[in-house]
Amino acid sequence: MALNPNQYRTDVWIDWCPGCGNFGITTAIYRALAELQLEPSRTVIVSGIGCSGKTAHFVNVNGVHTLHGRAIPFATGIKLANPSLEVIVHGGDGDLLGIGAGHFVALGRRNLDITVIMHNNGVYGLTKGQASPTLRRGLKTKALAKPNIQDAVNPIALALASGYTFVARSYALDTKHLVETIKKAVRHRGSAFIDVLQPCVAYNDILTMHYYRDRIYRLEEEGWDPVVREPSEEEAEEKISRAWEKSMEWNDKIPIGVFYQNPHVPTFEERLAERLPEYLDNPPALQRIADPSGKPLVTPEHFRRAFKDFIVKVRR
Ligand code: SF4
Repeated sequence: MALNPNQYRTDVWIDWCPGCGNFGITTAIYRALAELQLEPSRTVIVSGIGCSGKTAHFVNVNGVHTLHGRAIPFATGIKLANPSLEVIVHGGDGDLLGIGAGHFVALGRRNLDITVIMHNNGVYGLTKGQASPTLRRGLKTKALAKPNIQDAVNPIALALASGYTFVARSYALDTKHLVETIKKAVRHRGSAFIDVLQPCVAYNDILTMHYYRDRIYRLEEEGWDPVVREPSEEEAEEKISRAWEKSMEWNDKIPIGVFYQNPHVPTFEERLAERLPEYLDNPPALQRIADPSGKPLVTPEHFRRAFKDFIVKVRR
């Protein structure tokens, strides 16, 4: 029987501030999962720390609420252990681009087939509104004593530079657009990133609903073509370069939509399978590690055989 969006809700009390953009993101997740008919037992949401970290509690699929900045490494381990699972990361801009920035870059380099949804509100909401890595220099939100002294990270440009093969931006209060963007990201084979602009009504009195309402436009309305059609490095470079330029647009007009998509880059799972031919048919999570009595089936000899191709003897 088909699942409807309500069946992806849990009965956990949602304690976000009334009017928070996180509600729009969660509603979009319920709808996207239902439209994709993702089996809850085969879907995993992994979150970090921050207001967005609570998302894992509110969606009725497997959920792991992890450590600050470490949602991507947890998600990487889950996906590598069982590549047949659909793994979705939720993190804030402080979590993913501050303490978690190294992991964010590493995921793009690997092109592991998971989706990262970033709740981007420009502040650390859970700890009372300090400037996050996406807040622009010179802005003074109401929780800051002085204007922000640091430059901002451009999440779209960083994702492109890191190697993500699906890079998009959407808006928390445009549920229809966000649902479609999440569906495209989940269907994409490879590392997918969505920068979701999200008003924080408690601490960010600059990047508000009104600020975005007057500026946001859809890339598709101007005929933007993000997809690399052929497995050609030249075409990929040209589309990355255009997407990079477009990502710099942020003043009177702010584009949302898919900036770049390249379906021709091998995923990390495929790269591993080239070295370990049985990996996809018999990944670690499906292997037996003990007999029915609990006696371990893995011996030192198994390790010796598994790693024999990786032993390097270096002469000095
Ligand atoms: Fe949302 Fe900001 Fe409140 Fe956190 S502090 S729940 S981000 S409005």
